[in-house]
Amino acid sequence: MERKTSNEIILQTNGLYKVYGSGENAVNALDGVDISVYAGELLVILGSSGSGKSTILNMLGGMDVPTGGEVLFQGTDIGKFSDKKLTAYRRHHVGFVFQSFNLIGELTVRENVKLTADLKSNPNIVDEMLDILGLSEKKDKYPSQLSGGQQQRVAIARALAGNADILLCDEPTGALDYETGKQILVQLQDLVRVHGKTVIIVTHTKEISTMADRVIVMKDGRVIRTEVNDTPASAEMIEW
Ligand code: ADP
Repeated sequence: MERKTSNEIILQTNGLYKVYGSGENAVNALDGVDISVYAGELLVILGSSGSGKSTILNMLGGMDVPTGGEVLFQGTDIGKFSDKKLTAYRRHHVGFVFQSFNLIGELTVRENVKLTADLKSNPNIVDEMLDILGLSEKKDKYPSQLSGGQQQRVAIARALAGNADILLCDEPTGALDYETGKQILVQLQDLVRVHGKTVIIVTHTKEISTMADRVIVMKDGRVIRTEVNDTPASAEMIEW
């Protein structure tokens, strides 16, 4: 599957540092990270546990503040955003998908997706997302009535319903069995190829990186390598 992604940098970090704790207990979770994310690409951030993957994802999503350096969204430092602008950034430009789904058990599928929906700019967004993720028939069910894979698709629909153009996925298949995990990866690849989204997947599973347009490899809070896949594997074909 030959891919040509855009040259537009949608997200960028410059000299990003994050220190947790202080003194003897200080941990350099990010130790000077410079990365670029291109609009419409599927980017995998690969690294073993503790290498700083979740930390960088949280920074990109404006969920955590760096100790040093900056995160640029379309060229503007999100650290300089007002509270209002930062909230709007989190709500309308980025969506998070976690290993543990994080759905609200008391709400139906439709209600969960509606939580983040940007109904002002798109009154039909909830139904559109349910349709794209193949959930239309499940809309009145509760999370406990769904399989793990279906729950993760609800989480993806919810992450996108705010009109997000960037999807930040932290080990999105980590809690799923192999086949179901693969279906989720197929869905994420489709969101890039068919719907033009920018998808960032954080994982420690090397094989998953073969489906990416680019791979950023992290170790001990640093980027140790960036790889370009000229012909990314179809998510259906990868095995791990
Ligand atoms: P990964 O996602 O690659 O497993 P993380 O970004 O979660 O790595 O963590 C990077 C490092 O920062 C690890 O050493 C981790 O223990 C530490 N860390 C992450 N979050 C916190 C926190 N809230 N407080 C203290 N240390 C943390």
